[in-house]
Amino acid sequence: MPIRTCITCGMKREKRDLIRIALNMHNQLVKDISGKMKSRGAYVCPSKSCQEGLLKNNRLNRIFRTSGEITLDLLFK
Ligand SMILES: [Zn+2]
Repeated sequence: MPIRTCITCGMKREKRDLIRIALNMHNQLVKDISGKMKSRGAYVCPSKSCQEGLLKNNRLNRIFRTSGEITLDLLFK
């Protein structure tokens, strides 16, 4: 099983235990449920605290290689 790192807490977990997130064309974080979005992806724990901590992560711009402001997609829950 591939191992990925949660970008909020830094915990290494099996890929299937994490949620893949990506940026849409509006610089909004979306959950890539299918895992098939072509954009750069990152991984986060399913826990509320890790998901709520995403926007507090000051490395987001570096992770997604963008300089624009990153927000959560409206459907991101
Ligand atoms: Zn986490």
